[in-house]
Amino acid sequence: MTPSDDATKRVLIVENSKFTARMVSRALAERCHRDSLVAGTLAEARLLLAVHSGQLLAAIVGLELPDASGPEIVELTLEHGLPTIVLTASWDEPTRERVWMHDVFDYYLKDEEGLRSVCRAIQRLPDNPGIKVLVVDDSAVYRMLESRLLRTQGFQVLLAHDGADAMAVLEAHPDISLVVTDYEMPNVDGFELVSRIRRRFSREEVAVMGVSSSGTTATSVGFLKHGANDFLPKPYQKEEFYCRVYSCIDTVTAMRAVQRAAFTDALTGLRNRLNFFRLAPEAFSRAAAEGRPMAVAMLDIDFFKKVNDTYGHAAGDATLRSVARIARRHLEGLGLFARFGGEEFCFLGTDLSRDAAQAAFEAVRAEVEASVVEFEGRAIRVTLSSGIALTARPGLDATLGAADELLYEAKHSGRNRVVLEPEPAAS
Ligand SMILES: [Mg+2]
Repeated sequence: MTPSDDATKRVLIVENSKFTARMVSRALAERCHRDSLVAGTLAEARLLLAVHSGQLLAAIVGLELPDASGPEIVELTLEHGLPTIVLTASWDEPTRERVWMHDVFDYYLKDEEGLRSVCRAIQRLPDNPGIKVLVVDDSAVYRMLESRLLRTQGFQVLLAHDGADAMAVLEAHPDISLVVTDYEMPNVDGFELVSRIRRRFSREEVAVMGVSSSGTTATSVGFLKHGANDFLPKPYQKEEFYCRVYSCIDTVTAMRAVQRAAFTDALTGLRNRLNFFRLAPEAFSRAAAEGRPMAVAMLDIDFFKKVNDTYGHAAGDATLRSVARIARRHLEGLGLFARFGGEEFCFLGTDLSRDAAQAAFEAVRAEVEASVVEFEGRAIRVTLSSGIALTARPGLDATLGAADELLYEAKHSGRNRVVLEPEPAAS
């Protein structure tokens, strides 16, 4: 399911009170830009599900319906594979038990705070399938229990039976957002696992939540001191579990968004200069020390100022995006490619032969020359020049400087060309 599919999906509201149904429906429309279908009875819900099942995002249901009381409506919406949110008038113990008998998404009160929670849940729903959570526990029962709770929220769940296993899963899936780990496990226990995770990942990259039945002060403090974001003693209530899980995931999600924005060029979507210089110096030094073949390049759009002057800055931006898209397709798989600034781009490829570099940059040059940027009915054509240094100078900056001189040569010998560092004369 793609996000764009989800964007147009509607929410089914099943509620006997017309007033409540209208209130929820209006909140979804105004706060989540989400259309809804409303049923007042179980029979109406059945009809709507028969017709619209595939185009629904979730169901929000009240338990008191004129033709059914209790679980039938929940069973029905879950049967259709819909994440189901229950609306209740109160949250006393019998109500909680009735709600949690089923794998519902959550339950909320029919009040303003409940409505806010409903909207937050509906907004999260399309994102959750893209979020990975790793459950680490030596007990198969707890692994199953926790993964079931998480899958009910729509998360992708991965499993590990001890700390060593967990590290292997993390290496294979570095985009995991949250690790939920037990304390007592054979081989590598919870504390040791948190330490190992923190040597590789910051708490903004991966959140860790400790969970343990030895709910002593030492366990909770130990988890936090080893670098966990949070700790939850077993047994816990589902409400507590979900609350902590979301708080951890929200932190990681927000930090990743900040990082992405800071390291991405907003216009072209390429790495920005900051991102390039965050990664390139180390990769350069390693490749230079190991004597690996490398290519360090500077690229520049020819007569770019003319595009801006003739067609305006919006046309210039469209041209930059077009050239970036072409170059990215050829170069990103070969090394670090970034927008250096203005109409300049830079590249570092380690393990790249002279022939491979020449072929890739020549392909970029030819495609840019052949392409036409359509902008407001006008056809804009540009060309691209590149200079490529193939031997490491002392340091990345000096090598980029050498590439810049070769770029200068490309410009002065007619533009629209790739100039490589000459091969050392055979002795
Ligand atoms: Mg255990």
